[in-house]
Amino acid sequence: MKLCVVGTGYVGLVSGTCFAEGGNDVACVDIDERKIADLRNGKIPIYEPGLEELIRRNVGDGRLRFTTDLAAAVKDSLVCFIAVGTPQDEDGSADLSMVLKATADIAKLMPGYRIIVLKSTVPVGTADKVREAMASQTTHPFDVVSNPEFLKEGAAVEDFMKPDRVVLGSNSEHALSLMKELYSPFVRTENPILVMDNRSAEMTKYAANAFLATRISFINQVANLCEKAGADVSDVRRGIGFDRRIGHYFLFPGVGYGGSCFPKDVRAVIRTAEEYDMDFSLLKEVEVINEKQKELLVNKVFARFGKDLRGRKFAIWGLAFKPRTDDMREAPSIVIIEALLKAGAEIAVHDPEALARAREVFGDRVSYHRGNYDALPGADALLIVTEWNEFRRPDFARVRELMKSPIIFDGRNLYEPSVMKQEGFMYYPVGRSTVTQ
Ligand code: NAD
Repeated sequence: MKLCVVGTGYVGLVSGTCFAEGGNDVACVDIDERKIADLRNGKIPIYEPGLEELIRRNVGDGRLRFTTDLAAAVKDSLVCFIAVGTPQDEDGSADLSMVLKATADIAKLMPGYRIIVLKSTVPVGTADKVREAMASQTTHPFDVVSNPEFLKEGAAVEDFMKPDRVVLGSNSEHALSLMKELYSPFVRTENPILVMDNRSAEMTKYAANAFLATRISFINQVANLCEKAGADVSDVRRGIGFDRRIGHYFLFPGVGYGGSCFPKDVRAVIRTAEEYDMDFSLLKEVEVINEKQKELLVNKVFARFGKDLRGRKFAIWGLAFKPRTDDMREAPSIVIIEALLKAGAEIAVHDPEALARAREVFGDRVSYHRGNYDALPGADALLIVTEWNEFRRPDFARVRELMKSPIIFDGRNLYEPSVMKQEGFMYYPVGRSTVTQ
């Protein structure tokens, strides 16, 4: 099948590449000329495990190409996926301008029937708005399918290739049957394709992200209570996770959720509820808890060193909002580092993949280190912000030698307090007892 993906970001690039891998002829379109030029030169703009190899193979086999020429892509493609950004607007709602612009442009350019597939995360009712916007630009027939994307950055290729489920929202049997055919290579192990109306599909995506964010804020508050009450959240987490009604996923306490999806999607649901005169108070609290949680490590640092950090140096391991990505959008590391800089501290940062993105955020206000140990010399303390696997088993003797004082604030509970005691560290985990030596 010939298809185009409009918007070649995390979702568009991964989806387009995986559809090409599924045997389709795919044009990935973007308005960012530099991004397209880079992709044509084999330079991949994002870090995502396994993606580079797939892109290379499918470009080499002639199934995948990158272009800024929307007209040519739309002319050739029966199915047009929309994967442009839906960032947060000033009032917290999702900004649909890029979605509406892209779909209106397609409507102007399409030479006949087309299927428009909304892969971007969009609020309930957007498919109707898209239909209206398109109908004002074309007399050709079209169908609009809502097909929210559930991939996780850091495991995006694997998630796309083996989705837990595929959600399709549409009232067109014809469009749905083509979409089912398109997804058939990815659901060979009987993972379901769920068909529903557009509004339910749109709502499903937001409900999923809002629920996952709620689990994170819930366990973060449980962790904070454990810390005060002398309980260990790691045991509590296991204790509840084995209950099959609860499960183990998304129950790891930390420094708050970030990224390009959870924060904006939680706010968008709150806003959508307001539009329907409903107060989604639970999600408002989820967000408040999350904002406070981002300050957790900084407050522990202040409690240990005081609020004036001039003359102090801190090493940071982990900048991306989660491991195995270079994405720093709404990353807790930004809140933490800005607060430490404001208090006068010197900051040395390391991340396996996000250093280039970090430079865009911090400029020359921090020092950047390719090796995790290189960030440590002279540090008064180490803060662990992202749980990269590389950080799980460091050479503690080397860490201790390099640092000025052996103090670790661990926002991801990577180490066992008993081990840290043996290794001679003062250790501040989340929701577990502090090791003071
Ligand atoms: P992104 O910002 O990485 O990519 C969006 C791309 O769209 C950019 O390259 C931009 O230049 C391009 N673009 C904007 N307007 C365009 C136009 N008119 N024509 C062509 N290209 C255009 O965004 P993303 O992270 O890939 O997210 C895209 C959507 O998918 C959002 O709605 C997001 O909420 C949703 N989503 C994201 C993830 C994720 O993990 N990142 C997961 C699931 C869903």
